[in-house]
Amino acid sequence: MPEMPEVQAHAERMTAALAGATLTKFELLNFAALKTFDPPVDATVGTKLVSIERRAKYLLLRFENDLSHVVHLMQGGRLRLDPKRTKKPKLGLARWVFDGTASGVEEAWLLTEAGTERKAGVWAVAGDPLGQEPLTGLGPEADGLDRAELAALLGANSKRIHGLLRDQQAIAGLGRMLANEICYEAAISPFANAAKLTDDEIDRLHATIGEVLKRATDHERTLDDIGKSVDRPSKVHNRSGEPCLDCDDTIRTVEYRRYTVFYCPTRQTGGKLLADNTTSKFLK
Ligand SMILES: [Zn+2]
Repeated sequence: MPEMPEVQAHAERMTAALAGATLTKFELLNFAALKTFDPPVDATVGTKLVSIERRAKYLLLRFENDLSHVVHLMQGGRLRLDPKRTKKPKLGLARWVFDGTASGVEEAWLLTEAGTERKAGVWAVAGDPLGQEPLTGLGPEADGLDRAELAALLGANSKRIHGLLRDQQAIAGLGRMLANEICYEAAISPFANAAKLTDDEIDRLHATIGEVLKRATDHERTLDDIGKSVDRPSKVHNRSGEPCLDCDDTIRTVEYRRYTVFYCPTRQTGGKLLADNTTSKFLK
């Protein structure tokens, strides 16, 4: 799933290509992709796209007439240039056509979703989209927390740190991969209770969140489009059975239905192998 670095870099790419362009056409290719009915999603047609921003893992397309399209790519969604503009594109959910783009020619951008989840979509919102669905209830941006704010947030959440880092209502923008990378680099067990981290661990966690996000965002900015998660540089994620980059140990995993926790026992758990024997709350 695209996380903060991928969505941020993509918002910047789209801004470079499309800021100031006029939306000439909006095509809904799959009705399930439109998550709102008021205001009409095509009320933006004929107006200028002011900016493309990011909040959590959402893209915000802000138009001149105070309307916005909020887009979530979910697991396998992509929003990219569509030079072919076929009538019924494979996996197509919606298409935006812009005139007055940076390239000087009319451009179509197609939202697609691979996989079976069918959750990616578009919300049409009037007024400031921040504070409205689907952006209500999101926690603060992960890269905007100072050390004291992070400490307060951790202290108020007596749950496993790996789960808390992925909880968008608590901290926005991180997902499975970055939760693994951050716990590894901070040398904290993914199962550590967030409310019981020591001052040293909080120091490390705070520094690591900033470093991991910066490194991942810098990498994404070198690409032309959101890449595959397997191509993203990682130190622990997707490295099951490989030697740890930091010690003689081997990267281990705890498998869940929808994701995998990767960790180095020596670095993160004092050599202890993790096994999950909690109830379904964490297994969702
Ligand atoms: Zn190690």
